[in-house]
Amino acid sequence: MRALGMILLFVVAVAVAGGVFYAAKAGAMGGPGAGYGYGNASNPDTNETSDNNGTLKSMISNAGEKKHDGPRYSKSGYDTTPLPEKKINELAEKLTPAERDIVLAKGTERAFCGTLTDNHKDGVYICRLCGLPLFSSDNKFNSGTGWPSFFKPFDKDHVAYHKDSAYGMDRIEILCTRCTAHLGHVFEDGPAPTGLRYCVNSASLEFVEKKDGKLDLPAASQPLKTDTAYFGGGCFWGVEDLFQQVPGVIDVVSGYMGGHKANPTYKEVCYTDTEHAEVVKIVFDPARVTYKDLLAKFFKFHDPTQLDKQGPDHGRQYRSAIFASDEKQLAEAKSFVAEQSAKPKFKTRKIVTTIEIAKKSGDAGGFWEAEEYHQDYHAKHGGHCALPSADDE
Ligand SMILES: [Zn+2]
Repeated sequence: MRALGMILLFVVAVAVAGGVFYAAKAGAMGGPGAGYGYGNASNPDTNETSDNNGTLKSMISNAGEKKHDGPRYSKSGYDTTPLPEKKINELAEKLTPAERDIVLAKGTERAFCGTLTDNHKDGVYICRLCGLPLFSSDNKFNSGTGWPSFFKPFDKDHVAYHKDSAYGMDRIEILCTRCTAHLGHVFEDGPAPTGLRYCVNSASLEFVEKKDGKLDLPAASQPLKTDTAYFGGGCFWGVEDLFQQVPGVIDVVSGYMGGHKANPTYKEVCYTDTEHAEVVKIVFDPARVTYKDLLAKFFKFHDPTQLDKQGPDHGRQYRSAIFASDEKQLAEAKSFVAEQSAKPKFKTRKIVTTIEIAKKSGDAGGFWEAEEYHQDYHAKHGGHCALPSADDE
């Protein structure tokens, strides 16, 4: 314990030195809108951060947002559930003392001293501690600061943000979402399209080079093996919102499916005879939630006895439908519906849910992603989509 205290003391001293040096360096950089340090930027409203879903401020306020305490996933299909302390300590055993000072104790390596600052090879930068991919060579740029610099992360869900007021500076610290390894800081003086500069310590990263166009990533750096389910249960806003809250669900996208018009618009589906249904595409982790679990949720989230409508929404596009991704899902869906149909509550009110094999993506009848304004509708608008009571047993 005492040894750890000594190390921490040493680390703080190094960090202070690094921080002061950094501030001096940053000040000397100057340049347009020399707003080094969060909150000092000359005009944060003019920053183009469309790739990152808004300004740094909104990214930080969204950080830590979670819909449940279960497993968490990133858009690109990685398990980003925070690692328990015990696991982090195990992983930390491989670090050298110098790496520990940076990764665990939030130190800063000296400028131009890291091994990756001038690395121009093609590949992916993974977390030194847990292996989560953090940055891509495609988004690296030469900032001249002496630290590896990127204008956006590999996946916005892989980096966490934390306000850092140490050493009299207001900065935004960046950490690995999964293991909380310290990476560096992010500033609003980067190049287009984001206007951000992720300033990272080489010691926090490990580089995996792309060879012959192929990336040979270690197991901890690979996305999960996922499955996909497609359900039509009326207005997709509400169904999307509900499935997004199911532990084990990685991503839910609203769209159209089962019709005969390629790339349909919302208006076409509403007002013309496309035969498409409003459908949600659910990408899930089969190790955490099974297809059968999702079928059961689907029957709770909508009323499978309403023909060509759902609540106040009338029309073929609101029909109850299951589009199975493969023969195995088809068999499971059929047996699930048969099982449900035998229940007393469905004796008089018959289940009308249609079950068919999903057409391939790109086919007219396959899944077509809906317009951007329909995605995450509830999160964006806080609106309400009428759904039958979920506890209708
Ligand atoms: Zn990590």
